[in-house]
Amino acid sequence: KRTSPAQTEFYQAAEEVLYSLQPLLEKYPKYKKHKIIERIVEPERQIMFRVNWLDDNGEIQVNKGYRIEFNSALGPYKGGLRFHPSVNAGVIKFLGFEQIFKNALTGLQIGGGKGGSDFDPKGKSDNEIMRFCQAFMSELYRHIGANTDVPAGDIGVGAREIGYMFGMYKKLANKYEGVLTGKSLKWGGSLVRTEATGYGCVYFAKNMLAARGESLEGKRCVVSGSGNVAIYTIEKLYHLGALPITCSDSKGMILDEEGIDLLLLKDLKENQRARLSEYIKYRPNAKYIPVEEYPQGRNAVWSVPCFAAFPSATQNELNLEDAKALLANGCKCVSEGANMPSTAQAVDLFVETKIAYGPGKAANAGGVATSQLEMAQNASMLSWTFEEVDAKLEQIMKNIFESASSTAAEFGQPTNLVLGANIAGFRKVADAMIEQGLV
Ligand code: NDP
Repeated sequence: KRTSPAQTEFYQAAEEVLYSLQPLLEKYPKYKKHKIIERIVEPERQIMFRVNWLDDNGEIQVNKGYRIEFNSALGPYKGGLRFHPSVNAGVIKFLGFEQIFKNALTGLQIGGGKGGSDFDPKGKSDNEIMRFCQAFMSELYRHIGANTDVPAGDIGVGAREIGYMFGMYKKLANKYEGVLTGKSLKWGGSLVRTEATGYGCVYFAKNMLAARGESLEGKRCVVSGSGNVAIYTIEKLYHLGALPITCSDSKGMILDEEGIDLLLLKDLKENQRARLSEYIKYRPNAKYIPVEEYPQGRNAVWSVPCFAAFPSATQNELNLEDAKALLANGCKCVSEGANMPSTAQAVDLFVETKIAYGPGKAANAGGVATSQLEMAQNASMLSWTFEEVDAKLEQIMKNIFESASSTAAEFGQPTNLVLGANIAGFRKVADAMIEQGLV
C-alpha cells in the first residue's frame, strides 16, 4: 500500500524486494504469521531536523537533515550520509531500506540505516563545508554512538566531511569512539575503506563471471560516475587486466579508448575537485560528451560497446533504453556500484536475458562490510594491514555472491541474483526479528 505517494524511490526499492520475496513467503508461512513484511517496511525511527549555518558572506543558510534508523535486528544501525540537493525523505528511506538487506548479506552484525541532507557541497569553501558539517552533527550526535548507530560517507560525504563531523561529535559527546566510519588513516580509519566499494564491486563481477567460465581480463568496461566508487572500480579493473574506457559526472562523460588515465582522474577529482571536462585538457585523444549531447532521455555511457558495465554514480541512471543499448552492443555483465542505478524495467531485462547481473545491494556491499571491519579494529584498538583487510573484503564478496546464487538456485532461478540477494538478506533479518520478539 502506497501510504506516502511522494516517496517514489522508496516504493521502487520496496516493490522490487517484496516481489522477489513471494516464493519465500509462500514456502514459509512463519514470515506472514509474524507480519514481518508490515514491520520491515516501517523504519524503527526516523529523525528529521533543521540545520542552520552561516555562509562565507555571513548569511544564514537553512537545510534539512535526516537520519533513518531502519532496522536493528542484526546490529547497530549502519549506513552512509548523503549530501546532495536531490536528498529528501523518500531518497533516504529507499537507501535505508536497501541497506538492511545489503548489511545482512555481508554476514556481519550490522543493522540498516541511512541519513543525509539536501545541502549541496558543490562550490562551497572549505570553511563552509566545516560549518555545515558541525551544524549537522550538533543535532545528529544525540542519536548516534559506536554501539547504537554508526554513519559513514556516501555521495558528497568523503574523508573531509567525516573528519569535520567526527571532530564535532567528539566535542559534544565527550567521547573518542568509532562512531563514524571512513575516518582518516591518521586517527582511526581502516586501510582499504576508501577503495572498498569499488574494489568489492569488481570482485563481485569477477565471481559472477568465474561461475560462467569467463573473466574480465582484456575486456572493455564502461563505468559511470567519477567519485569514490567509480575511481576505485577503475583501479581494480586495471588490477585484473581489464580496460576501463569511460567515466562521467553530472555534466558529461569521458570516453578514452586507450583506457581512463587513473592518476589524472584521481588528481582532478580527489585533489583539485575539478569538473570532469578538465580531463581532455591533459588527454587530447579522449572525448568529452556533455549531457546536452546525450541521446534524448538516455545516459551516453551505456551506448559505448563493452563487455561489462559498472554503474557507479546514482539511482536510476540506467533505464530500459540504456539496458537495450548495452545488450545490443554485446554487454555480458552489469555489476552495480551505485545504489539502485538501474530502473525496474532495466533490471527486469537483465534478469530475463540472464546476463551476469549483480544488483547494488549485493555488488556494492564491500563498502559497508569494510566499514564494519573499521568498527572491529576501533573496538579492539588494533589496525590491520592493507593486505589483511583486502583479503577479508575479497572473501566477503565471494561469500555474498555464493549466498545470493545458492539462494537463487534453491528457489529454482539460478541466475537471478536479484531474487537470491533479496531472499538471502531478508531471511537473516526476518529470522532475527522473530527470535527477538515483538519489539
Ligand atoms: P561521490 O560523491 O564520491 O561521487 C558521486 C559521483 O556520481 C560523482 O561523479 C557525481 O557527479 C555523480 N552523480 C551524483 N549524483 C548524480 C546525478 N544526479 N546525476 C549524474 N551524476 C551524479 O559518491 P560515491 O562514489 O560515494 O557514491 C556513488 C554511488 O555509490 C551512490 O549511489 C552511493 O549511494 C553508492 N555507494 C557508495 C558507497 C561508498 O562507500 N561510498 C557504498 C555503497 C554504495 P557530480 O560530481 O557532477 O555530482
